Formats: sequence, C-alpha cells, structure tokens
Amino acid sequence: MTQRVKLFIGGEFIESKATQIIPVTNPATQDVIAEAPCATPDEMVAAVESAKEAFKSWREVPVSERARLMMRYQALLKEHHDELAEILAKETGKTFEDAKGDVWRGIEVVEQAANIPSLMMGETAENVARGIDTYSYIQPLGVCAGITPFNFPAMIPLWMFPMAIACGNTFILKPSEQDPLTPTRLAELFVEAGAPKGVLQVVHGGKEQVDHLLHDKDIKAISFVGSVPVGQYIYRTGTENLKRVQAFAGAKNHSVIMPDANKQTVINNLVGASVGAAGQRCMAISVAVFVGKSKEWIPDLAKELAKVQPGAWNDKNAGYGPLISPQAKQRVLDMIQKGKEEGAELLVDGSNCTVEGFPNGNWVGPTFFSKVKKGMSIYEQEIFGPVLCAVEVDTLEEALELVNSNQYGNGTSIFTTNGASARKYQHEVEVGQVGINIPIPVPLPFFSFTGWKNSFFGDLHAYGKQAIRFYSETKTITARWPESEIDNGPNMTIKLQ
Ligand code: NAD
Repeated sequence: MTQRVKLFIGGEFIESKATQIIPVTNPATQDVIAEAPCATPDEMVAAVESAKEAFKSWREVPVSERARLMMRYQALLKEHHDELAEILAKETGKTFEDAKGDVWRGIEVVEQAANIPSLMMGETAENVARGIDTYSYIQPLGVCAGITPFNFPAMIPLWMFPMAIACGNTFILKPSEQDPLTPTRLAELFVEAGAPKGVLQVVHGGKEQVDHLLHDKDIKAISFVGSVPVGQYIYRTGTENLKRVQAFAGAKNHSVIMPDANKQTVINNLVGASVGAAGQRCMAISVAVFVGKSKEWIPDLAKELAKVQPGAWNDKNAGYGPLISPQAKQRVLDMIQKGKEEGAELLVDGSNCTVEGFPNGNWVGPTFFSKVKKGMSIYEQEIFGPVLCAVEVDTLEEALELVNSNQYGNGTSIFTTNGASARKYQHEVEVGQVGINIPIPVPLPFFSFTGWKNSFFGDLHAYGKQAIRFYSETKTITARWPESEIDNGPNMTIKLQ
C-alpha cells in the first residue's frame, strides 16, 4: 500500500482525516511513492492551537538552551545527510550529489541558528538623559508559518523554521505537496534532537491550507518561497490580514560575459549554472549576455551544453534529473516552441530527450537559444527548465540597461578579468545578489538571501541578521532609578535636553 504522509501536530505524527489526497511521484518513473493528505480545517485549527500553546513555554526557554537544540539538530542532519539526500532525490528527481547539496545548504542555516545567543542581543546606552538608561531586547513574535516550493525541499524549510524557532517562536510548515517526504523526515529528526512538543508542526496540502494560514489571526508572520503570482497573492493577503510577510518569488538571472573573461571558465560555469538541477533553481542562470567579441564563444558553449546528459537520481553520470512533473515538462516544451516561433535561433534542442530505462521520466535535454531579444516570451518569462538564452550586446552599459530593465532581481553575475568593469557592474546593477566570476552567488547564512524587484515582496529577507529581525520584535526600555524621591511637580511639556 502507498505510504500516506503524516501530519505533525502537537509533537505527534498523525494520520490525517483528509478526503483529498495528492499523489507524490518519482519524476523519473511516475511511480506513486507516497500520498500527501490535504489537512482538514479541524487539523489546521489544531496545528495553530498547538503552536500557540507551545509558544507560552518555548518563549521562556533560555536562549542558550534553544541554541543547543540547534547544535544537536545540526549534528543529526549531518549524520543523516545521505539518507535525507536519498529521500529528496527520489521525490524531486535531483541527482544524489545535487540532493546532498540541497540538504547541506540547509544544514548551514541550522549552524547559523545555533549562534542565536549573540544574534539576539539588543542595544544599550547609558545616560541618554541625566540618570536615565535605554536598552533594547529582542523578543519572539509568536506563531509563525512557512510555505515552501518543490525545488529545495530540505534547504528552504531549513531557511525558515530553525531561525524562527531559535528566536523563541513556534512554527507551522506547509511544504510543497509535490515533495513532502523530505520535510517530514526533517521534522522527525528535529524531534530526535529534542524539540519540545508543539514547537514545530508540519501540515500538508495546497491553496486551501495556505489560505487558512493567511487568515488565522494567531499567526504573526508568514514566510513564503515560490512563484511570482502565488508570492504576490500571499504578500497581499497576508499583509491585508495584518501579518508580517516575506515572499521570495521567481527569477530570470543574467550572466554578463565580457570579452576579456577567461573563455573556458565562462563555458564551464554557464553549463552548470544554466542546466544544473534541470534549471529548476531560482538562482539558475537563464540568460547569458555576451558583450562584444565574447559572442564568438557561443558555438563552443553550445557544444558543451549538448554533451550534458540527464538521468535518474541514482545514475552517477547524469548531469541532472527530470523536471518535477509532466505539467512542468509540458510548460518548458511549450516555451521552447514559442522561442522558435518568435524568431530565436535554437542551437541545442532538448525537446525530444529520452533516457534509457526511464521511458516515463519528465526529461528535457539541455536547450540553448541564441539571437534572443527583449520582448520574446523565452526572455521575459521564467522558464524553470534546462534552457539557456543568449543575448548579444556591444557594451557593458548596454548589458546593464538590459538587466536593470528586467522585472526580476534575484541574482546575476559578471565574468571579466577587469576590476573596473566588475566594480561598475556590482555598483550599478539593480539585482540583489551579484557574483563576480561566480555564476550563482547564493550568500552563506551569516549574510541574508537578498532578492530584489519581482523576485521578492517584503523588506526583511531570509536567514542571517535579517531573519532575526523578521522573526522578532524589539522592545526598548527607558529606565530611571533615582536614589531618592524627585518632586519637580507634573511635567507638562517635552523637555529639551
Ligand atoms: P508555487 O508557487 O507553485 O508553490 C509554492 C507553494 O505555494 C507550495 O507550497 C504550494 O502548495 C503553494 N501554492 C501553490 N498555489 C497556491 C495558491 N494559489 N494559493 C496559495 N498557495 C499556493 O511554486 P513551485 O512551483 O513549488 O516552486 C517554483 C517557483 O519557486 C519558481 O518560480 C522559483 O523561481 C521559485 N523559487 C524562488 C526562490 C527564491 O528564493 N526567490 C527559491 C526557490 C524557488
């Protein structure tokens, strides 16, 4: 019988009473490997109640104890690294090594959460007025919730709940219904690390369950990662319901190739950054902007891209895995068709990709278009597949204008050996994360993940110091302790210092 994924509420893994079930499939085979239940309204209420109740005691747990929970959790995640990667690879289709990377990026955030004592220190100033001191404390918000996408089922849940819980909050995670097994295993290991009952809950489902979280008055903050339309909906609805919201959304990441760059470095980096993980990364490079003579490298890049072979999660030679679903594959194929119709030149066509032994996999081979122009669908829209678009410009200024006029601002990179070009690009580009001779500049967790424009709705970003601010309130205290009574009569005006 197919495994039914359990809900995690009040410290117990429970069988849902859901009547609506979503099949979880292995994208390389279409085998149904599990079923995700859509939590019932009563179960959603129970999840919030449990988080609310647990908050009363969890907020009183000393910060150093909260840090130790994260240290134990980090050690357990490392111990179970391969096991987690195996679960993750089977439900997402990622290659085993790439799945390990997904888990590792999450472990690094748990390490950051283990540093919570110093991160939660407030500020102090003595004698802000005569005999008066001011100091601030960082206090948790209450019940927080996270809604995560399919493409990083370990890393993105781990961006959220460890930071929120380390701050003293309790949390409800609603992972993607397409790959709920990894987040469920993350929750089991959290229990094993000693997480008290109710500090974390995991509920499954889709829009209906998300809507419950958006409207529940006891939820103070919502973290979301996913597509632009859903991100905008979540940001609008969450803030309308007076919640703090951070919504990380889609992207179109450009890499600018200067003619003075090292050709082979550029080619190697572009291949991995564009079609790695089947292009299903929000920081994947989907547009290569060739400046001046660097366009002469396009044929050699095409040759290298054509060599990459997708394959199943356990195939050691596979460059990347299948797309997450037949629908996602069809969307990418439709975009490739549109690219041809709109006049781009298809140098490498991955539309008819097959993988021996896996006739039902959602395969799309590496795909490379040149002569791509602004206004074409393949340039304007996020494809979220192994498709790279080449645009040609004459100068760095033109490249900057192109990137800055794009609606997205998640990540970008420049390849050059000229410091002045790199400096100009990093300073003038309107994108939140910039790589210099580094294709995918995802910041490590002591910084924050800082997408801009339509790639992010909100103001405080994920992990790092910004996450602490997102998941907390600052309480500022102004205190006077006179040694004896002061009797100056009532004070009717603001005193000038
Ligand atoms: P998605 O928007 O379809 O789903 C994300 C989450 O929202 C899931 O948990 C899903 O159940 C829920 N959801 C879906 N439709 C909903 C609706 N109508 N109302 C309420 N909730 C809904 O995204 P996805 O396909 O799972 O993930 C891929 C997208 O995520 C891409 O656009 C990618 O760029 C983006 N992404 C962005 C970042 C980032 O940091 N900016 C990181 C990873 C992924």
